[in-house]
Amino acid sequence: MKIEVLSLFPRMFEVPLGESIIGRAKDNNIITIDVLDIRNFSDSKHKKVDDYPYGGGAGMVLQAQPLFKALESMNAKECRVIHMSPRGRTLDKGLSMELSKENKIIIICGHYEGIDQRVIDYWVNDEISIGDYVLTGGELPAMVLIDSLVRLIPGVLSQEESFIEDSFFSGLLEYPHYTRPSDYKGIKVPEILLSGNHKKIEQWRKKQSLEITKKNRPDLFDKYIKRKDLSKDELKSLQNIFDTTDE
Ligand code: SAM
Repeated sequence: MKIEVLSLFPRMFEVPLGESIIGRAKDNNIITIDVLDIRNFSDSKHKKVDDYPYGGGAGMVLQAQPLFKALESMNAKECRVIHMSPRGRTLDKGLSMELSKENKIIIICGHYEGIDQRVIDYWVNDEISIGDYVLTGGELPAMVLIDSLVRLIPGVLSQEESFIEDSFFSGLLEYPHYTRPSDYKGIKVPEILLSGNHKKIEQWRKKQSLEITKKNRPDLFDKYIKRKDLSKDELKSLQNIFDTTDE
């Protein structure tokens, strides 16, 4: 997959996208990430890229000219163009999964008050937000988006790192993890995890997942319990949770 990013601050991407799983995916040629400096596409003598908003108001707006020139040179009409924006659809697992299947995407990082609306109207296919808060620029949101979708591309995660059991994949949040030692300063790992009884461990984890989801994300929990494809074990765990809550 080819990921191309338009940013005023390309250096911000160097470390976060060069390390760990994303860095390895690049080294293994599963993905390429090119971050282009919007300023290089400015036709103005001093590489100016922003101007005051028509109609007045605070802040500056990224101009249409450099972005149009950049997108034309990137053949942007042939792929999905994303604008990171607090106005966009909120990023979730489904959207990351959908984007992980594209051959090429272009991500525009806004700055200042945002970008000239004509760029959005002419070029952008998706506006994506990473949450209901406002950041200084689109760079961190773009990195969040890239990280979330790259790990879903087949071959990026090893078997051990599989995303199948991650939070959200099944519609629930993940169960708690513990590692050695089993007793740390007198705080013990739940006995069941040391039992070697895989069926019982699976049931315990499911129950934990359900309880954590009910507590932290009642919206997801409500959606989950309305599902028609729940197994006998899942229904039993649900029953247990309701029984305990009723006490
Ligand atoms: N004036 C804009 C508004 O109220 O919607 C906010 C502009 S913000 C200071 C500058 C840039 O940061 C935006 O153009 C966008 O690219 C990026 N940005 C800020 N918060 C974001 C979020 N929650 N999700 C995605 N991008 C965001």
